[in-house]
Amino acid sequence: MSIATNIESLQIDLKPIGVQLVAVSKTKSIEEVMEAYEAGQRVFGENMVQELVDKQEALPKDIEWHLIGHLQTNKVKYIASFIHMVQSVDSLKVLKEIDKHAAKHNRQIDCLLQVYIADEDSKFGLDHAELIELLRSEDFADLKHVRIRGLMGIATNTENERIIKDEFYELKMLFDGIKTSFFRKQEDFDTLSMGMSSDYQLAIEQGSNMVRLGSTIFGKRVIKHFKLKDGKE
Ligand SMILES: *Cc1c(COP(=O)(O)O)cnc(C)c1O
Repeated sequence: MSIATNIESLQIDLKPIGVQLVAVSKTKSIEEVMEAYEAGQRVFGENMVQELVDKQEALPKDIEWHLIGHLQTNKVKYIASFIHMVQSVDSLKVLKEIDKHAAKHNRQIDCLLQVYIADEDSKFGLDHAELIELLRSEDFADLKHVRIRGLMGIATNTENERIIKDEFYELKMLFDGIKTSFFRKQEDFDTLSMGMSSDYQLAIEQGSNMVRLGSTIFGKRVIKHFKLKDGKE
């Protein structure tokens, strides 16, 4: 299967059920991204700021770029002018920094709050208590240049479907609860980003409306890294 046919068949499945496809292009070349673009894909996700910036410069400007990896506060300035959505907001500190730089560019940046749902130590994200604390804080209420669109989560990397299903179920329940408690009047709190290549069907069954797919579209990522302009990886 080619990248183009993968995109086309995924869109045929996902569009009618209202699930947005984010094509995760990390480590993939400009040519590979262009093949997906020419098949009609406009939403792409990257997890590293430098790679994101280089691709944004090189590729068509109607692409909507999503950051899906951990964002350090000192790197917000590199993406604030163009980023469509930051899916990986995991602290009030980074959210305030996004707000500050969005204001400088006179825009509002869409964000998802990343919630820690996996049974693994290595994943970033807010736990339930931190999420509530953030949403209740006065500093959060003051932010005018970020728009919280929903939640994002990454399930445990396991073959055990029961575990994955339970984690997605829990995140959906949390999403519904947060919506009722904090965003009742905000109709654009509408995005639940969960599911990657290995588990997106389970995620959709549990109520996801945004999936982030890399290897399903582009094939497995090999060790080869995307080469940056300055030759660094
Ligand atoms: C890499 C990545 C994906 C896509 O992973 P695949 O298994 O290739 O689909 C999705 N979400 C995040 C946060 C990622 O880092």
